[in-house]
Amino acid sequence: MAEKTTKQPHRVVVIGSGFGGLFGTKALRNSDVQITMIAKTTHHLFQPLLYQVATGILSEGEIAPPTREVLSSQDNVSVLLGEVTDIDLTAKTVTSHVLGRELETPYDSLIVAAGAGQSYFGNDQFSTFAPGMKSIDDALELRGRIFGAFELAEVMAARGQEVDHLLTFVVVGAGPTGVEMAGQIAELAHKTLKSDFRSINTRKARVILLDAAPQVLPPFGAKLGGWTQKKLEEIGVEVQLGAMVVEVDERGLEVQDKSGERRRIEAVTKVWAAGVQASGLGKTLAEQTGAALDRAGRIAVNPDLTLPGHPEVFVVGDMVALDNLPGVAQVAIQGARYAAREIDGRLRGKAPQTGFKYFDKGSMATISRFSAVATVGKLRLSGFVAWLMWLAVHLFYITGFKNQVTALLHWTVTFIGNDRSERTVTEQQIFAREALKRLQGGTADLVSAPSPVPTREELEERAQEEVRLTDSNRRGVKVG
Ligand SMILES: Cc1cc2nc3c(=O)[nH]c(=O)nc-3n(C[C@H](O)[C@H](O)[C@H](O)COP(=O)(O)OP(=O)(O)OC[C@H]3O[C@@H](n4cnc5c(N)ncnc54)[C@H](O)[C@@H]3O)c2cc1C
Repeated sequence: MAEKTTKQPHRVVVIGSGFGGLFGTKALRNSDVQITMIAKTTHHLFQPLLYQVATGILSEGEIAPPTREVLSSQDNVSVLLGEVTDIDLTAKTVTSHVLGRELETPYDSLIVAAGAGQSYFGNDQFSTFAPGMKSIDDALELRGRIFGAFELAEVMAARGQEVDHLLTFVVVGAGPTGVEMAGQIAELAHKTLKSDFRSINTRKARVILLDAAPQVLPPFGAKLGGWTQKKLEEIGVEVQLGAMVVEVDERGLEVQDKSGERRRIEAVTKVWAAGVQASGLGKTLAEQTGAALDRAGRIAVNPDLTLPGHPEVFVVGDMVALDNLPGVAQVAIQGARYAAREIDGRLRGKAPQTGFKYFDKGSMATISRFSAVATVGKLRLSGFVAWLMWLAVHLFYITGFKNQVTALLHWTVTFIGNDRSERTVTEQQIFAREALKRLQGGTADLVSAPSPVPTREELEERAQEEVRLTDSNRRGVKVG
């Protein structure tokens, strides 16, 4: 009798549930593969709208749906929570950890889409006082700090104390995130909150946008950069260019101007929106392949997004250094879809695709309500038309119909009524991260270490003891 053989499906491991991870996984929906997605958060994150969570327009759920839910109808995927700490290219395994538990996952093909984090250009100590804008934790912490600053100012003003340092908000970095953040804090202070306080005048709050570069939004060109700066100043944002941050502390920051002169700005709330650093997994891969890393830690890949000597490993999105590709969502989405097509094509015996080609669909940034800038090919747009484009594109890309509807509702509240639906802040949002850092093992210290699995006899004994205590009315009876 012929021996029955069961063919194992091709195993694809996807690292990350961001734009690259999610879109790559979805693109393998109809392929004969078994996918394991490993990511360190339980959600997919629409990073471009983080600033709206930080300034009370959207809730975190609207931009960060559970990955498990998004992929629930795709039968060939398992989603695992865990931070990948190692990739062994020889053994073809990925090692991940969650709360002290280690897991090793084997792969036949690998898509690495672990993105990038905030860079403080070697001054990581700044992060304590100037959170970045990379995660839901960051956005909620910033929301807590921004609304908390107004609350504290009200109390101090009622006591007759000076509050300028509480009503000064500094955003570092005049790229799209910094511009959007500064514009929203200005609208919040000068419009949304103007009638809510009694002892302070929120319209007097200062919002400062700082950058060491000589212009706002350099990737949008000189004309749109100039237009954006004018618009920001019209809504009350002070734009300070050629200003390099050299020191940050709890109460303020020190800036060095182009002339070399140093000055201090007293500001309790600082937002860091300058600089990115690719995931440290790039270094792990570079050490095993000899591939080069650029200054931002991005790894040089082959034109087909694979690693030198490892055609089974694709790296996509913000981790990649190839042809000066920008760190934007479309690069990650298109790269991941390309990798998925290649994996599927190989299994179907198709010829390899030509190298990855990015199709630039344009860039946009909002400044305030009804006002944005956009570049699409050679087209340069500003004002209401650009804002409408921004609205349509962002609505289209928010994951899930449910989130699209609620986001639209919240935008109506904010853009028509100048209001914010998500102003709830908690003390934990602001302080919990610092408290966790004091635990030596981080969050792992909050749960017990994995204990040995009890034997059947032990479980039976425990159950019998429970029954005996109940049946003999021994509950609540003083022992000893
Ligand atoms: C505030 C902000 C605003 C932006 N605005 C825009 C915009 O308007 N337009 C635009 O096109 N782009 C914008 N971007 C850039 C865009 O979001 C990124 O280019 C895009 O997210 C890159 O996709 P990615 O898949 O490479 O990484 P990400 O989307 O960052 O995903 C990385 C994933 O990997 C996971 N991960 C990281 N390390 C590990 C690990 N060790 N183990 C397991 N999982 C890990 C993360 O949890 C995450 O799920 C913005 C980015 C930010 C931060």
